Amino acid sequence: MQKLSVAVAVFAALTALVGVHKGDSSLFVLVAAAALCAYTTWRAADMSSFLKIFAFIFSTETIVFGLVGLAQAEGLWPESLKDYAPPETMPLTVAVFSIIVYAISHIPVVREMTRIADLYFSSRDRGEGRVWPFKPFAARERAIAIAMVVVLVLLNQGQVGITVRLSFFNRDWYNAIQEKNASEFWRQLFFVFTPWAFVYVASVIIEFVLQSMLIIRWRRWLTEHYIGRWLGAHTHYGMALAGSGADNPDQRIAEDVNRFISGGEEGYGVYSYSILLIATLSSLVSFAYVLWDLSGNYPLPGTEIYIPGFLFWAVLIYAAVGTLVTHLIGRTLTGLYFDRQRREADFRFSLARMREYSEQIALLGGEPAERGALLRRFAGIIVNYLAIVQKRKQLMVFTSTYGQLSPIIPYVITAPFYFAGRITLGVMTQTASAFGRVESALTFFINYYTSLANFKSVLDRLSSFDHAIDTARGQASATQIFSPTDGADIRLRGLTLALPDGRQIVTVDDLTLAAGQSALLTGPSGSGKSTLFRAIAGIWPYASGEVLTPRGAKVMLAPQRPYIPMGALADAIVYPGHVDDYSRADVQEALRAARLAPFVERLDEENNWGQRLSGGEQQRVAIARALLAKPDWLFLDEATSALDEQLEEEIYAMLRERLPGTTIVSIGHRSTLHAFHDRYIVMEPAPGGVFSPRDKVHA
Ligand code: ADP
Ligand code: MG
Repeated sequence: MQKLSVAVAVFAALTALVGVHKGDSSLFVLVAAAALCAYTTWRAADMSSFLKIFAFIFSTETIVFGLVGLAQAEGLWPESLKDYAPPETMPLTVAVFSIIVYAISHIPVVREMTRIADLYFSSRDRGEGRVWPFKPFAARERAIAIAMVVVLVLLNQGQVGITVRLSFFNRDWYNAIQEKNASEFWRQLFFVFTPWAFVYVASVIIEFVLQSMLIIRWRRWLTEHYIGRWLGAHTHYGMALAGSGADNPDQRIAEDVNRFISGGEEGYGVYSYSILLIATLSSLVSFAYVLWDLSGNYPLPGTEIYIPGFLFWAVLIYAAVGTLVTHLIGRTLTGLYFDRQRREADFRFSLARMREYSEQIALLGGEPAERGALLRRFAGIIVNYLAIVQKRKQLMVFTSTYGQLSPIIPYVITAPFYFAGRITLGVMTQTASAFGRVESALTFFINYYTSLANFKSVLDRLSSFDHAIDTARGQASATQIFSPTDGADIRLRGLTLALPDGRQIVTVDDLTLAAGQSALLTGPSGSGKSTLFRAIAGIWPYASGEVLTPRGAKVMLAPQRPYIPMGALADAIVYPGHVDDYSRADVQEALRAARLAPFVERLDEENNWGQRLSGGEQQRVAIARALLAKPDWLFLDEATSALDEQLEEEIYAMLRERLPGTTIVSIGHRSTLHAFHDRYIVMEPAPGGVFSPRDKVHA
């Protein structure tokens, strides 16, 4: 950026020289703008990476268009290319754009937006790209994305240029029609309109493809980013525990990321707020110039007095009135749409819940109650729908009328001049089309502005999600209670466990779990046994003290209700490993050992196993999992509670036989469990309303 800034400064100096040389004081506006642009470009070095792309484009264009302009002023521009020279005002316009980019980078909403956009545009990840018909190539993902943005902006600007050019075609064509000049009519059609229209269509297609690719790449990256951060370091668990401000992480990852980038049904995303905004702004500025120039054709009726930019002011007022009325009629619509999303989501969620608890509901005969609740929810959707229809009907009366009028209005304004013979038909139609362009650009802007509230809520949801992740991570890293030791035992020293609200529940002065000595932990329900296991497993963030674990030891914890992932049974057995990590025979053998022999044939069956298997079968899946994983330490948190005593005994005997190198620590209530353990620990009340584990001799 700094090199570019120097180049812009050199260009400003050059322009000043030419200005002095030619005695052309009008050039000094450009000199001032270019000097300011050089300054903001310099400062842009520490601006957001995303905004830098745009500042870079505009500053570069300032130099390029500026040099072309100087060449023209000095008579160095070839005569044959005269038609292709950019308008004189171009360098000034793009210099101002570059300055604007710098200025808006200080607005809080923009900062928040670019902070999230920058995650992608300053990432260091590798990516792969492919430009047809060339071979795929590897590059930084960021570089690919930036290149796409640059091309998209240039394409959009090119399209605006073509539209401006075509508006002059429009003028000449209608003039030819008015003058009944057939040869000019056809010449304009075939040699001006056709090639430009062709280029325009091609550029629209390329733009569409590029834009779609950019959006999906960006979304893929951002989704991976958030999933990675959410799942990393057990953050998802810490966030759920803390009940942090970030509800529904699923919605944030699946919907908000997409809405942030490409916008949703009723809003615009960051793509619209950057590239499309620039396209619209360029279109507005270009046609405003055209209209301004055309205004020179229209003196006040009966006089020779010209109001500068008369047509421009007319369209400004027209568009402002139109949008104001639209806004006044439709302002409640935003709230209704918002409401609709919430109601639809609620309805969908209650249907999904119904499916999840289908068995429990059937057992209780709860269908009528469910039907009532579902239909009540749906009635809310209908009420909202009807309110939207009502509002849109009113809005439609106005917008349809306005839509019908819009193409007519400029003709009404210009007709007196045409009939008085002051303007040609071509000027009239060109005025009408420029009027339409400026009008729709202005309307667009006002829409952008009003959808900002929607976009802001998406931004806020992503920001608070980020924030909650950071908080959970900070908490997790602040409670680094683990230290690896060279010994073989697990030792807890000065350990204090608390609840998310800060209330302490467990203290452990000094407890050593010796390797090879199986232990049974019992105690009243709610005395923190499971929490103690969670702390040993390293997922409980509200802990202080020390947990010394043997270096490199593999610790596995089986909870009372094991997790059964979606998919084939084999996937559930080897979870979180992969089926390829184990031989088929080993998996089958583990199943048989866990007394699940009937399922050996159904390993590849995809099913909702989490609901299909009985509680006891699910617990045995966890046992089979442990057999395959062969951990050094196996913590069983009431992991056999759903088995009958006979089966429980068999399972314990089998575990001891098959996992001789594994130390088993269990939580359980049944007295029959004592027989399978070497040591007996009880959670006992200690001062301060907490519980502490104490050794007991089993009577
Ligand atoms: P145990 O396994 O001994 O029955 P737990 O360790 O599961 O007990 O729970 C100990 C106490 O901590 C209980 O009072 C329980 O309600 C509370 N508790 C556990 N998890 C949470 C949580 N995520 N948020 C708030 N309280 C919790
Ligand atoms: Mg428990």
